[in-house]
Amino acid sequence: MMVLNKLRSTNPNLDGIVPYDPKYLPADVMLSANENPDGLSAGVAGAVSAAIARVQVNRYPDPLANDLRDEIASAYGVERENVLVGNGGDELLFDIAFAWGGPGRTMLDCPPTFSVYAANARLCGTTVVNVERVIGGGRSFCSVDEEAVLERVSQGDIDYLTICTPNNPTGELTDLSFIERLLDATDALVLVDEAYGEFAKLGTSALPLLSSHKNLAILHTFSKAYSIAGVRVGYVLAHPEVISELKKVRQPYSVDAFSQAAALEVFKSRDVFAARTAKIVSERERVLATLRDFGDVEVWPSSANYLFMRVPKAAYVWERLLAGGVLVRDFSTGELTRDCLRVSIGSPEQNDRFISLLGHILDQEREYFG
Ligand SMILES: *Cc1c(COP(=O)(O)O)cnc(C)c1O
Repeated sequence: MMVLNKLRSTNPNLDGIVPYDPKYLPADVMLSANENPDGLSAGVAGAVSAAIARVQVNRYPDPLANDLRDEIASAYGVERENVLVGNGGDELLFDIAFAWGGPGRTMLDCPPTFSVYAANARLCGTTVVNVERVIGGGRSFCSVDEEAVLERVSQGDIDYLTICTPNNPTGELTDLSFIERLLDATDALVLVDEAYGEFAKLGTSALPLLSSHKNLAILHTFSKAYSIAGVRVGYVLAHPEVISELKKVRQPYSVDAFSQAAALEVFKSRDVFAARTAKIVSERERVLATLRDFGDVEVWPSSANYLFMRVPKAAYVWERLLAGGVLVRDFSTGELTRDCLRVSIGSPEQNDRFISLLGHILDQEREYFG
């Protein structure tokens, strides 16, 4: 019998860490990951293919994706030095956690929110301080506890924090006036994660605050409104000093040449995506109105391409939906999100299939459980 030798233990920061599991199971109707229901249009796909065909694969890619940086910078009226491109927004989230976190340092988190922020902080040995969102009390499922966050940063020990707006998974926006007060109240790096910003009303982005606030970083991604989640490209907009610090920790060749070429063509064609984004927004409103007519579903307005809802016996409903071919995201075991599910907005046909299947499951539940 073969005997294995021993293995030195890893960094203690990894103790108890569970690898990120998106529960991405194959299903007919994929409404769990907030992806765009549509691939690229024929025109954009053609431009992407041609650009990819020109890539010199024997050469390393441009480490900083400068052509893409320049295109993004000119669209926002900023300089190349204000932009950093990453292997998905996820890489940039880790870079920020590594650069601004670490042992002896502190990050403020506002759960329920994107779980990656706290997971990255823990990996880096950063202390995580939670200021929970206020649950209930109005039009949204929850909202940032503005006064508590301002009070907590005033203690001076917070090194960085992330405000996800629209918030994943709950869909609500955070007021810009609060973000401005926060930026003025602290020198902590404030990352405003606008991964879903394209689905929100105009005028809700933190971009206008960029020129006056050195401690602001804004995250955008090509994975949601721009349909290329499979390609892995995102970017940060920030003061050149923030970008310089991030350059110290990033992996030099993290954004491969194919991804740079594809993202550049998609970004140049960004006007083409406005119509599909508008269609998703109108579908979101239609699905919201329909679910509201289901007596036992509590569902909240959303500024993103998903809806957050509470249903009786959510874990069971999630399983029944999957058995019927519709995958949504289950948040029912979360302490703050008990019995909650998140459904991405898909094509009209996919949304109809979700609605009718959910209606059927809830009817049956009512019969069985009364
Ligand atoms: C999807 C998402 C991102 C970025 O995703 P990438 O695919 O890595 O670009 C960042 N933040 C939130 C909250 C997201 O949901």
